[in-house]
Amino acid sequence: MKLQFNYSLKEINTFGIESTAEVYLNVKKVWNLIRPDYSIYHNQLILGGGSNIVLPERFDGIVFRVNITGAKIVKETANYRIVRVGAGASWHKFVKSLIEAGVYGFENLALIPGRVGAAPIQNIGAYGIEQEKYFYSAEIVDLAKRKRFFMDKDEFSFGYRNSFFKQEMKSGFVITHIHYKFPLKWEPNTEYKDIQNAISNTENFELTPNNIFKLVCDIRSKKLPDPKETGNAGSFFKNPIVNQEFYQNLLLTYPDLTGYSDKDGMKISAAKLIEKAGWKGRKLNENSQAGISDKHSLVIINLGNATYHDIFELSEAVINDIYDKYGIRLEREVNMIS
Ligand code: FAD
Repeated sequence: MKLQFNYSLKEINTFGIESTAEVYLNVKKVWNLIRPDYSIYHNQLILGGGSNIVLPERFDGIVFRVNITGAKIVKETANYRIVRVGAGASWHKFVKSLIEAGVYGFENLALIPGRVGAAPIQNIGAYGIEQEKYFYSAEIVDLAKRKRFFMDKDEFSFGYRNSFFKQEMKSGFVITHIHYKFPLKWEPNTEYKDIQNAISNTENFELTPNNIFKLVCDIRSKKLPDPKETGNAGSFFKNPIVNQEFYQNLLLTYPDLTGYSDKDGMKISAAKLIEKAGWKGRKLNENSQAGISDKHSLVIINLGNATYHDIFELSEAVINDIYDKYGIRLEREVNMIS
């Protein structure tokens, strides 16, 4: 275990932003986090795959890159299985390895970039499911106390792209392992429109976990810009949730808006709002190095040498414009690290 100084983070954030960490630590074992005293570093950043983050040009403090991997079934009963997985494991590879091992449930979450440790933080979701469905507990290190503890599902208070951890435990706590609990009986989820369309367009489609996995991979690779080609962090904004009355009034002026019922109200497509406001494929000014993707209006892309400021300014302009036009304040889904 060795601290590295003035370490470039460019290759480990999917925006591809040029960013330097004052101190960097590759965390391979839990004791790397517990044994040394890191309290001299007041600024601490935990980094996974860097796919939901906008980094500053320089991070004055310590960056912990969680590289603890490995997954295994730790409990098996007649009804369910519990899998323990290291926070540094690639999410997509984890999902694939579960299917290969006959453990089903996360097919719809295939091809989401990033690592397992970040999944409960914003409660990742796609195509009708969120990771909370099978979340059981997490093993966490408190860096200040240099102690390990467990947190179970209730304590995470999962919400839409949100959790207690994302709000209250942003700094000083590292998720090292997660336990997921899967029922033995597979419960396919094919409610999402894109999945239904793909199924009906596939001749003799056989409903198996592996086929859903492949279908989701196929849909996603056509829809979203690949960070290996164009720097981005997926959906930059959350879909806003408004009350029924507000939604109905909005429809009087904009009848083609898309919204669907959510437990907290009506969830409106932020992509549609941004597209209708004319932002798709646009950038703020000629010199700006950040723009809205012409493939998907929820995605901000790096046009070459984008910095934190380019991305912040563009997202701020979109937020203000949507507020002026629709009276809705968009919230960033991506973590801004300043
Ligand atoms: P990072 O970006 O490294 O970190 C994200 C946050 O979590 C940071 O605040 C960081 O400090 C914290 N963190 C990371 N690891 C730990 C840890 N072990 N302990 C404590 N804190 C930690 N998200 C979805 O929900 N659904 C999608 O469909 C989706 N599609 C995407 C598509 C693309 C092309 C891209 C680029 C991103 C997409 N995302 C999506 C967003 C992103 O992939 C997820 O949020 C993912 O879980 C982030 O993982 P990460 O390891 O890259 O996290």
